[in-house]
Amino acid sequence: RVVVVGSFNVDHVWTVAALPRPGETLSGQYHTGPGGKGFNQATAAVRAGAATTFVCALGEDLGGQLARALATADGLDLREHSSQAPTGTAGIYVDHDGRNSIVIGPGANADLPVDFVQSQRDVIHGAHVLLAQLESPLASIETAFAIAREGGVRTMLNPAPADARVPASLLALSDVITPNESEFCAQLERHVGERVDASIVATQGDDTLHAWCRRLLPHGTVVVTLGAAGCFVSHAENALHRDAQTHYRVPGAKVQPQDTTGAGDAFNGALAASWALRPEAAFADHLHYANRYAALSTESAGAAASMPREVDVRKRFS
Ligand code: ADP
Repeated sequence: RVVVVGSFNVDHVWTVAALPRPGETLSGQYHTGPGGKGFNQATAAVRAGAATTFVCALGEDLGGQLARALATADGLDLREHSSQAPTGTAGIYVDHDGRNSIVIGPGANADLPVDFVQSQRDVIHGAHVLLAQLESPLASIETAFAIAREGGVRTMLNPAPADARVPASLLALSDVITPNESEFCAQLERHVGERVDASIVATQGDDTLHAWCRRLLPHGTVVVTLGAAGCFVSHAENALHRDAQTHYRVPGAKVQPQDTTGAGDAFNGALAASWALRPEAAFADHLHYANRYAALSTESAGAAASMPREVDVRKRFS
């Protein structure tokens, strides 16, 4: 089982010719759908075939009803704290060049109480992998990770969004972290004091990347996602998770991307699912699967809605 602790948002998306300037009123093509990093990753994990629990906070409104209906449809085990705040929302403008402007209303997501997470101790202890992101209160995430640690459950932290603070105490509780290039640079600067531009990460030598990863998470595994280029992994010597090498790249799968929103979420959910389903397999196999799964998710539009199913992944890459 995978347990995901995280956010649920109702995304409101407008596609516009150009992003609105102050005082401007535009019209654009509108669509709405489920999102939030936590829910996207939980949807990916369950569709990748793992029994999955999603621990979150929802408002008593239409957004909350949507989350419940979608969880039921996907067979996702939903553990919700019912909040007085509105369900999380995101307002997203996308222009024709794919640039975006986003405003998030965390609402209920900011109101996931520590004691609610503590009440989920049994389900966390029954999991193989606990996965979280940074759109929920840090104290609640740390509580979940501490419970996982005490039960011998693997912990995976997706340190996203890039501007979120990650305390050293949370890194210490993480077995694996999965930043994209900008999140990696944000954490390197914060925890290692190394200033690196995100645009040069993918072109660095593997030994340089490995050295940075070792300083960032000395005890654990760092997986840096590199968009179309796939990912780079760096293990601590004593945390090899059944892998022959300490560090290497796994190339991305070749696809025709339509919409890369949520690719990172697809990658995280699929990696957690694969690891939970086949704990004895080489870690490289899980990364390979996560790359394929995430690549396929870019071929359709939407956040949680674009997560492929296991059968589609098998068909596409057989
Ligand atoms: P984020 O979505 O968080 O910015 P990335 O852009 O690094 O993260 O993408 C996450 C993963 O999604 C990559 O490691 C890769 O597996 C997959 N991916 C993203 N973009 C593409 C693409 N254009 N082609 C193939 N795979 C992709």
